[in-house]
Amino acid sequence: MAYIVGVDRNQTRMITTSLDDLIDKDNSVRVIDAYVESLDLQDLGFIEYNGSNRGQSPYRRSDLLKLHIYGYLNKIRSSRALEVEAKRNLELMWLINSITPDHGTIAGFVKKNKEAFHNTLRNLTLILKGWGLIDGKLIAIDGTKIKAQNSKHNCITQSGLDKKIEYAESQIKAYLMAMEKEDGSKENFKEKLQAYQDLKEQYLIQKQELKNEGLEQKSLTDTDSRRMKNNGSLDICYNVQSVVDAKNHFVIDISTTNDINDQNQLYVMAKDAVELLTVEEVTVIADTGYYNGIEIKNCVDDGMNVYIKKAKANNSTKDNEFRKEKFSYNKKQDVYICPAGNELSFFENTSKNGMKYRKYKCSNCNSCKYKNACTSSKSGRTIQRWEHEDILETVYQNTWNNNDIYKQRRCIVEHPFGTIKRTLGYSFFLRRQMDNVDAEAASMFIAYNLKRLLSMFSTQELIKKLE
Ligand code: SF4
Repeated sequence: MAYIVGVDRNQTRMITTSLDDLIDKDNSVRVIDAYVESLDLQDLGFIEYNGSNRGQSPYRRSDLLKLHIYGYLNKIRSSRALEVEAKRNLELMWLINSITPDHGTIAGFVKKNKEAFHNTLRNLTLILKGWGLIDGKLIAIDGTKIKAQNSKHNCITQSGLDKKIEYAESQIKAYLMAMEKEDGSKENFKEKLQAYQDLKEQYLIQKQELKNEGLEQKSLTDTDSRRMKNNGSLDICYNVQSVVDAKNHFVIDISTTNDINDQNQLYVMAKDAVELLTVEEVTVIADTGYYNGIEIKNCVDDGMNVYIKKAKANNSTKDNEFRKEKFSYNKKQDVYICPAGNELSFFENTSKNGMKYRKYKCSNCNSCKYKNACTSSKSGRTIQRWEHEDILETVYQNTWNNNDIYKQRRCIVEHPFGTIKRTLGYSFFLRRQMDNVDAEAASMFIAYNLKRLLSMFSTQELIKKLE
């Protein structure tokens, strides 16, 4: 049978080619080259990195940045893998002029330029705005949990330590009892007893450290990471927040946090996007996880239009027909009207977590046939009203009136996270500590935005835009 056998590897070739001849004119690596060449790296904060060897001449920062971006676009994140690729990958040889930095130099470049990667993401947003691809009229905010370099076992909590101490104590007790009964194996028991006593001591010290530092939990390997809910299970993660522009689903900016939920992120993320894009009018959409009265008020006070849905507030009986939303507020008379048509009048001021509330109470509950469904309180149903509740009511009404816009939220925000986590496989960080991880997250989203550009335009079109 005749096979396709190629050319003998020992045959001398007469035809010489340049690296440029081997890289197709439409190869996306040419876009990375044009993009990095278009940047003012000094202005973005990139410094030259001399490498780990003393006296070594530095590589050009543009070459190391091109290598880094190429890696993130092609699922090659580790410095060791990039070192190998730089020696055998024709695209990379073309892109970085056949330099072969070692992994120490590649990792060191990232470490020395942490902030510059975030600046580059923000700069890319401004480039995209300049091209009319981002307009900042409708923005969606969402967060995703990305696993940290810290195992679950290396995260301590007060309750976890209590359980461990309890177990160590039960073992100590068991060995003490065994030692009293069986004289022959005392030495063996002694060792195990000592081991559990040491463990108990270690747990007690950790418990005291948590208490002294005022922490609920502490990660021992990556101290900035936290245990948080991630797709239904508890993992040690970072919470990466993103603002995505609705026009073409480009990521405007990100923030890496270790907050275990999204409740304090709405305003800071929306404000960041508004200031970066310098837009006057903006509509912000976010899911119920971001619902926080103060955050919403801050956005509204800054002139933002907010569409957000509130989690259903349960009353004590958990009967949906008697939730707070079923009670209407009459502003003129300053009373709530309950589903049975009775009034709840103001009776006291209260405050919680620095927020002031007015409390309203119904005086007809004892004779009401719905009482058992409405409240478990013997003295009757009460309703609390925040002093700025009118802002939340307007936002609630606007959200329902613009439900078609609100419904776009999922489609807007899930595209970047889907690409980052599933297409590129970046569901965990390689580095430790917040600033290093933030540089990694920024690199992921630079890669996402470039990937999106490459799907919208041809290589030649992008190179022309970048000239
Ligand atoms: S229990 Fe009181 S507040 Fe509830 S529906 Fe009856 S009258 Fe109204």
